[in-house]
Amino acid sequence: MTGKRTAVLVVLDGAGDRLIPELGNKTAFQAASTPTLDTLAREGQSGLMNVIGPGMTPGSDTAHLALFGYDPSATYPGRGPLEALGAGMDSQPGDVAFRANFGTVEPDFTVVDRRAGRDISKEEGRLLQEAIDGMQIEDVTVRFVHTVEHRGALVLRGEGLSAKISDVDPHEVGKKVLTAKPLDSEAEKTARIVNALIRESFDRLKDLEVNQQRISRGRPPANILLLRGPGKHHDIPTMQKRYGIKAAVLAGGALYIGTARYVGMDHIHVEGQTGTIDTDFDNIAVKVIETIQSGYDYVFVHIKATDNASHDHDYKQKVLTIERTDAMLGKILDAVSNSVVVAVTADHTTPVSVGEHTCDPVPLVLWSDFIRPDDVIAFSEIDAARGGLGHLRGMDVTPLLLGYAGHIHKFGS
Ligand code: ZN
Ligand code: ZN
Repeated sequence: MTGKRTAVLVVLDGAGDRLIPELGNKTAFQAASTPTLDTLAREGQSGLMNVIGPGMTPGSDTAHLALFGYDPSATYPGRGPLEALGAGMDSQPGDVAFRANFGTVEPDFTVVDRRAGRDISKEEGRLLQEAIDGMQIEDVTVRFVHTVEHRGALVLRGEGLSAKISDVDPHEVGKKVLTAKPLDSEAEKTARIVNALIRESFDRLKDLEVNQQRISRGRPPANILLLRGPGKHHDIPTMQKRYGIKAAVLAGGALYIGTARYVGMDHIHVEGQTGTIDTDFDNIAVKVIETIQSGYDYVFVHIKATDNASHDHDYKQKVLTIERTDAMLGKILDAVSNSVVVAVTADHTTPVSVGEHTCDPVPLVLWSDFIRPDDVIAFSEIDAARGGLGHLRGMDVTPLLLGYAGHIHKFGS
């Protein structure tokens, strides 16, 4: 091996599976035609992995933290900060962030529609965002970004904030917006700020022209912000700080971009990269190659559609997504195989028969042109069980990749 290489982590979300009767009792990885993945398995090392730990069913956010080498039980900030970072906001340590919905309430705060008709356009969202973003309550600054439809993310920045407050969203139509209550003594200020913010959002939104127009079209006005998923942005060491590397994320879904940005990765925008099967695999391949060649040490590529297909019990779409990802990987390796170390895995198992995440381990393959092979010759949950990597945890993957890629110093002399 000469010099340092780029570590490439490819995650097919929820791609692990159990035996699928409709596929002749094969998993989706077994049934799919995957010449590239099989080559990686034949030339590299395979293993099984409990992404968080034995018996643990991972959420995608905690699973990705583990895959990036972070202990989720010590670093998981809750959903809010990850969504905010995924929306491109600059959430920082100490900030408290939320997922935010525009909703519709009566003047007495009785909820009429928790999603304001689900049809907020981009332009309407921009005007609503303008009305909220920059709001100041006591010494706390409120930043808000509209994302899609009724959704957005909100960040509070100020001294002494806490995420330990109760929910304001009653999660039911016909009920009143709830008062946020502190869940511990340090959260009193934050609860007060949030209650003032909700009231102020109503005052600012209710008479906006965009809402008058919605009412005249018979649409519910977006006249309140409902917050959920509070989380405090922890001060964690970035990948750059831990390993001295420059890391990048190419993903379509905001949660994945956010989780990667949380550990310090740069988001590389790819035209046409979405969280669906229609994501532009060709464009992703081109951008991954470019990112590797531009000097990034670590490149994380996320493919979401395998998980969507699994939640929908759609084994055909799952197989198709795996095959398209395989072709994408082939293009990437054709261009840069001698400058990378590659790991391909899933963040958890989502069996199409179940339609939810489960605790089953996921397959992993580790490849570079110098890595010693084992005797596994195909990529799947079943084949990987015999592999030379044995049984790992998610937190092992990134150190393993970085070690082979030459980014981890010798321990001792
Ligand atoms: Zn996932
Ligand atoms: Zn899922």
